[in-house]
Amino acid sequence: MQEKNEMDENLSDSERDYYEKQVFDLRQLVEVSKSLNSTLDYNILIDSILFTIMGQMKVLKAGLFAKKGLDTTYFSLHRNYKGFEVDHSTDYSIGEDHPLIKLLSRHFRCYSLEEIKERLGSFRGIEGLASLEPSLVVPLKAKGVINGIIIVGKQITEEGFTDYEKEYVLNIAILAAIAINNAFLFEMTTTDMMTKLKMKHYFYTVLLEKMEQAALSDRPLSIIMIDIDFFKKFNDTYGHQTGDAVLKQVARVIQANVRTMDLAARYGGEEFCVLLPDTDRDHAAIIAERIRTGVGNTATEYDGLKLSVTISLGAAQYDSARDISGKSLIDRADRALYSSKQTGRNRVTTAS
Ligand code: GH3
Ligand code: MG
Ligand code: MG
Repeated sequence: MQEKNEMDENLSDSERDYYEKQVFDLRQLVEVSKSLNSTLDYNILIDSILFTIMGQMKVLKAGLFAKKGLDTTYFSLHRNYKGFEVDHSTDYSIGEDHPLIKLLSRHFRCYSLEEIKERLGSFRGIEGLASLEPSLVVPLKAKGVINGIIIVGKQITEEGFTDYEKEYVLNIAILAAIAINNAFLFEMTTTDMMTKLKMKHYFYTVLLEKMEQAALSDRPLSIIMIDIDFFKKFNDTYGHQTGDAVLKQVARVIQANVRTMDLAARYGGEEFCVLLPDTDRDHAAIIAERIRTGVGNTATEYDGLKLSVTISLGAAQYDSARDISGKSLIDRADRALYSSKQTGRNRVTTAS
């Protein structure tokens, strides 16, 4: 106590307030960093960034522009925006070579809409962003490259942002940009670009995790293996490109018939698999049947023709006594799939 008083004597009240605020804000930044680094899930991450900014900046509106994939050349407004009145017929995307992106990259700081207009001369090419009337535009930059933009609405106090606040939000944005970069790279290296489904290695990693959880919680867990019927012949008849279009279509049907908690993956060329947590074999068979009819009833247009394929499926439920490895469970589903092929194709077989 004695020591503290001695220290306090050397500081004026306003100095002490100033340092206390600095310490508090730095602690907040550490917390923000921790929370942003705790997930690689893109949607959760963006929510986390926006809520953090809204809390720290005392605003009711926040949104984030980011690239949706490796092959896109523009930033689009992520659907998890908060508070803004978004008109669904408006194009909110911003090209990566737009002067705004160059400005943010060269002069990395926050901008008001007026400052942007002053620098660029007009809102041409960013009409969507301008129509949202953000009070602050905050750049996201990781590894020297702009990888997104955050927009925020007015402060609740309506006082306008201080320089300190603008610098502070830029610090949050730096942490957010790194987290987004990590999540983006993770997404890209685990997603099959053609079908947009997850890849085999990612499926296998999650399968092992879910098997462990299922063994501990005694909750059921099932998988489905899927293979397109006579696909070689299809390719030979209609060409590889048409085959690719059908492959994408099949992937869409699979994805549309599973829950968000399920994991659909491209297992190989024209083979797919689905991981179904909290699902026993009977329910897995029902879902497999739904996917089978869905694929059979979906046509891909080609040269005026309506083409469709059928699929064979094998489902298996995880059995902790028998399936000591992920491979064992996959093998059982694979054998069930083989049995579907043997007994006429276009059907579902469930492993006993
Ligand atoms: P089955 O009913 O026994 O499965 O007969 P299948 O002809 O489908 O035999 P298999 O499953 O072995 O077929 C694999 C074929 O799938 C070989 C290849 O022509 C095709 N394929 C694999 N990957 C792709 C791809 O990315 N695009 C296209 N168009 N075809 C692919
Ligand atoms: Mg195959
Ligand atoms: Mg096949």
